Amino acid sequence: MTLEERFEGIRDRMEQAARRSGRRAEDITLVAVSKTFPVHAIRSLHGLGQVDFGENKVQEYLEKSSELTAEGIRWHLIGHLQRNKAKDIIDGVSLFHGLDSVRLARELQKRLAAAETYLDCLLQVNVSNEDTKFGVPVSGIMSVLDGVAECDRVRLHGFMTLASPTDNPEEVRHEFALLKDISGRSEMGSCLVDAANPMISMGMSNDFEVAIEEGATHVRVGSALFGSRDPYLAG
Ligand SMILES: *Cc1c(COP(=O)(O)O)cnc(C)c1O
Repeated sequence: MTLEERFEGIRDRMEQAARRSGRRAEDITLVAVSKTFPVHAIRSLHGLGQVDFGENKVQEYLEKSSELTAEGIRWHLIGHLQRNKAKDIIDGVSLFHGLDSVRLARELQKRLAAAETYLDCLLQVNVSNEDTKFGVPVSGIMSVLDGVAECDRVRLHGFMTLASPTDNPEEVRHEFALLKDISGRSEMGSCLVDAANPMISMGMSNDFEVAIEEGATHVRVGSALFGSRDPYLAG
């Protein structure tokens, strides 16, 4: 299959999943996860009309974005961010999906204040309670949100999660449903930029349709678009 065929296939499946759940496809953003794939692959997909691209490592994001300044790409940083890299993402990242601690929010706040700018963020939540993963446990969300609320330059729009790895996406449907439920709780009202329309980033190549059925506003799809990734480079 060509890149164009894969791209069209993903968009068709997104549209069908949206329709099944009574939603509009326009309300769901496809983030093309380009980690480990070369700049020319990003250029090709951008040429087909894709605007949102995601990277999980700061260094790779910096390298690729500096080569692709003319394209008007919207960059998403989707992985864990070390505090000492906070300064590297405040300029060019349009949505940071990996906010996972008050300490990181404070570091971002400091850098954002110095640069007189703002950063749109999602709080990464660990809905599966696997302890190998990053993300705030469900029980800790409110205390992290209280700390993030003091960081006025960190604009919180919603939530992101990585579901448990599985071959059968039905097995993680309840994890997606839980994040959707959390994002709509009344106590989130004061924490989010637009609490009536929270952003929910969930779903990857093998489970994005179920994620859309459960309310995802952003799906992060890599290998199903670009082809399989070298596992040694993917990190
Ligand atoms: C790599 C990655 C994805 C995309 O994974 P695929 O299975 O290739 O679609 C999505 N989200 C995050 C956080 C990732 O690191």
